[in-house]
Amino acid sequence: MFELNGKVAIVTGGNGGIGLGMAHGLAGAGARVVVAGRNREKSAAAREELGGGAVAIDVDVTREDSVASLIRRTVEQCGRVDILVNNAGINIRKPPEVLTLPEWHEVLNTNLTSAYLCSHAAYPEMKKAGGGKIINIGSMMSIFGAGFAPAYAASKGGIVQFTKACASGWAKDNIQVNAILPGWIDTALTRRAREQIPGLHENVLKRTPAGRWGTGDDFNGIAVFLASSASNFITGAAIAVDGGYSIQA
Ligand code: NDP
Repeated sequence: MFELNGKVAIVTGGNGGIGLGMAHGLAGAGARVVVAGRNREKSAAAREELGGGAVAIDVDVTREDSVASLIRRTVEQCGRVDILVNNAGINIRKPPEVLTLPEWHEVLNTNLTSAYLCSHAAYPEMKKAGGGKIINIGSMMSIFGAGFAPAYAASKGGIVQFTKACASGWAKDNIQVNAILPGWIDTALTRRAREQIPGLHENVLKRTPAGRWGTGDDFNGIAVFLASSASNFITGAAIAVDGGYSIQA
């Protein structure tokens, strides 16, 4: 039920943090993983770490031509696309009155428009294969707001609704589309946040029932579940992987 032998999985931003954690889960279950990122050194290191026929392909998920090339090269090198993880993301931490329009667009393009571009480009291949699995990465900012993250929260709220729209539209093609909402996870992204937001580290520990920050490895299991036949009747869901952060009053 959880095995992915013969499946090909693209993970955007699969060269570090949460993406690499999910890539490990998928590779461990037998999938051939395509690590899709911008930083070649990080992607090559992730490919080596993953083994099992993993490949690294350069992509800038904000550019339509680059995404088209990612899908084309994946099919050339691996033959098919079964699983797409829309994980690439950034944050620019500024209050709404200070955030500029280019910064707004940069965050929305990287976190939300990218999911549209990649899903849109992967759809014909999934349809051809008789089905597929798309996993979109949201955030606690899909649920909550924060004064320092207006564009990020808008993008991550949008991811949940985009997930529901694709899940509704593509159920007929046997494509399940779900979102994961990570809590506070120790990655390059949040290492910067901890430098910028005083007290964040301690507040997360206090507020998270599990009493710790998450790690990339905490995403191995959910990636396999949502990419495998175990989740075939689950679509349009947004599943928190947060140590209980979102349910504690
Ligand atoms: P990282 O900074 O480690 O990972 C972000 C990844 O996105 C990198 O691998 C980066 O690849 C890739 N990326 C960014 N921009 C682009 C682009 N234009 N084209 C291609 N790849 C791009 O952070 P996380 O692992 O924490 O973040 C992964 C996802 O999880 C993001 O969507 C983030 O918003 C989300 N998330 C993280 C949380 C956390 O606590 N860490 C909490 C909630 C959500 P490269 O270096 O090659 O550019």
